[in-house]
Amino acid sequence: MPFPEALDGHVIDGHVHLMPQKLMAAIRKSLTEEAGWSFEHPTDRERMEEKLRSMGVERYVALPYAHKRGMSRELNEWVLTRSRESEMAIPFATVHGDDDVAAVVREAFEAGARGLKFQCPVQGCGPADPRLDPAFEAAAEYDKPILFHAGTAPMFEDSPHVGAEKFAEFVESYPEIRACAAHMGTFETGKFLNFARDHENVFLDTTMALSPRSADVLGFDADGISDETLVELAESVQFGTDFPNVPYPYEDERRGLLERELPASVYEDLFRNTAERFLGER
Ligand SMILES: [Zn+2]
Repeated sequence: MPFPEALDGHVIDGHVHLMPQKLMAAIRKSLTEEAGWSFEHPTDRERMEEKLRSMGVERYVALPYAHKRGMSRELNEWVLTRSRESEMAIPFATVHGDDDVAAVVREAFEAGARGLKFQCPVQGCGPADPRLDPAFEAAAEYDKPILFHAGTAPMFEDSPHVGAEKFAEFVESYPEIRACAAHMGTFETGKFLNFARDHENVFLDTTMALSPRSADVLGFDADGISDETLVELAESVQFGTDFPNVPYPYEDERRGLLERELPASVYEDLFRNTAERFLGER
């Protein structure tokens, strides 16, 4: 099931991971051990982009994350360098809570990073962590968006760094920052949908949450979010996939959305315009 014709070749995938091979292999190993997932998609930039382009994607948000201190500076530089060689990559940066947070983030923004990514449970720091305040202050100053893995899915219900309450604290402290909760905020989608309803700068991404595979892979039934909700919140919801670390075909990530047969303008928002708004391009 391809993207609607008007969007084919013009889609933005708002949630793609671009990291060095060794780090990707380590991430995949832990996802396989902890979640039982297996991966078939390529992890090198050229072959990833070939696949995305063949799927109708024009640009993608390239996300790193740092699971320990002392690695984010080099990782950010790596992503920025790869993105300079690319016409498709929109580079984001990351920082660990125990790093020299202000310096790492400011350096990344000065070097061209378009936003920040926090894989909160894996990084052990989240939207309500005071160690990250210097990062949030820099994001506000540079007008850069932040993408948080802020929800408890798929296996982080015991993490102190995720959940609707933590995200709400961030929104209250930094209402001027465009902040996206990945995976529709699963498993607390109702609360996260309300954040998007109430706050212009709160976004959600569809990554792994609205696919026919979501129930067995993420433990969330995509039918829990109605067509009416997607129509209502299309300007706050952006398409994302977790490619290449998604344990099923790329097609499945969009199929669930396309089978809903939503209005054309809704698809334009979901598959491109909302991402542009999140990125500060419109
Ligand atoms: Zn991800």
